[in-house]
Amino acid sequence: MKTTTPDWKQEIDRRHGSLVALRRDFHRHPELSFEERRTAEIIAERLHAAKLQVRTGLGRTGVVGVLRGERPGRTVAWRADIDALPLTETFDAPFTSSAPGVMHACGHDGHTAIAITLAEILSARRAALAGTAVFLFQPAEEVFGGAQSMIAAGALDDPRVDEVYGLHLTTQTPVGQVGIVPGPSMASADFFDVEIAGRGGHGAYPHLSVDPITAAANILLGMQNLVSREVAAYETAVLTVGQIVGGTKHNIIPASAVMRGSLRTFNDGVRAQLKQRLADYAAGIARAYRTEARLTFQGDGCPAVVNHAAETAFVREVATAELGAGALNDGPPVMASDDMSLFLHERPGCYFRVGIAPTDGRPRPHHAPEFEMNEDGLPVGLRLGLSVMLNALGR
Ligand SMILES: [Zn+2]
Ligand SMILES: [Zn+2]
Repeated sequence: MKTTTPDWKQEIDRRHGSLVALRRDFHRHPELSFEERRTAEIIAERLHAAKLQVRTGLGRTGVVGVLRGERPGRTVAWRADIDALPLTETFDAPFTSSAPGVMHACGHDGHTAIAITLAEILSARRAALAGTAVFLFQPAEEVFGGAQSMIAAGALDDPRVDEVYGLHLTTQTPVGQVGIVPGPSMASADFFDVEIAGRGGHGAYPHLSVDPITAAANILLGMQNLVSREVAAYETAVLTVGQIVGGTKHNIIPASAVMRGSLRTFNDGVRAQLKQRLADYAAGIARAYRTEARLTFQGDGCPAVVNHAAETAFVREVATAELGAGALNDGPPVMASDDMSLFLHERPGCYFRVGIAPTDGRPRPHHAPEFEMNEDGLPVGLRLGLSVMLNALGR
């Protein structure tokens, strides 16, 4: 394992200011999923200026930069997601979001700035570089659409990528620490709607109606039993109903009700089993109440992030060499999801976490208006990315 030599470290130090400035610029101008036009334009400009081969509009607003080294080697991709969330930021700083109701509350501004800087540093040393580095700037991670659309557009095929890596910044981990988990490391996610159809009427005469509210309540309570009774005890799954909509008034039985929820697990088999059983279960309970239920899933959802064994061991080795064994802080499995999983379905690789927790101890949860990153974590991510790419390209 080669670590980044002292002159690489100097290079990272030298770029610290511009890395932070770039992240702050993306933070000030966040864009929602598949609307990342300004972001994509800046990425393309910077990659062009660094003399990479650039493709834009890939999978709608995605950008791919290809950097061919002058020595033979492997083709290795680095993936960064670039989209923001529909939230209003509460943090007050000169670089606070200028777009009303839109905010980088997941750290993708940092991912984008790290990936651009990584491409620029490697490009400046092209003569010494082995292999081909492919930088995948993926739109629309937050709606689980961007990875799929980029893969469909051939992002991994031209040139053909051998391995794919990437990082997610996390406020749950202190700066200087990383989480590199082999196997399942982030949960799958599927969003579902249950529409229950009954027959409306007066609240005083339920026997003359078909009540969808009572049916919905029983489906809701009962569906948790699928997790406890039908999933093996050594597997995990989480079912959450986040919305129930139905009715207008105290004394009117409505004609219909809708529940919306999410299903998460780490295992493709459990995921398929529960998706099927949820639909059967809702329909069966609905029938018991003389209603009809139809369960539909929104799109294809997102499989679990499953890191490949050899590539994960490799990233752990790199991180240990760069940061020391004490920096490895894997933590419990993450029930959140990320469509990096689709790239890892296509090619071997590893998706790891890099700490950006602020030091004052106040929680800054991702996807919350008070999210805020400790920017000292950015150069740590850059350094690891650089070392992962250099070592993987030259293997
Ligand atoms: Zn997110
Ligand atoms: Zn994210």
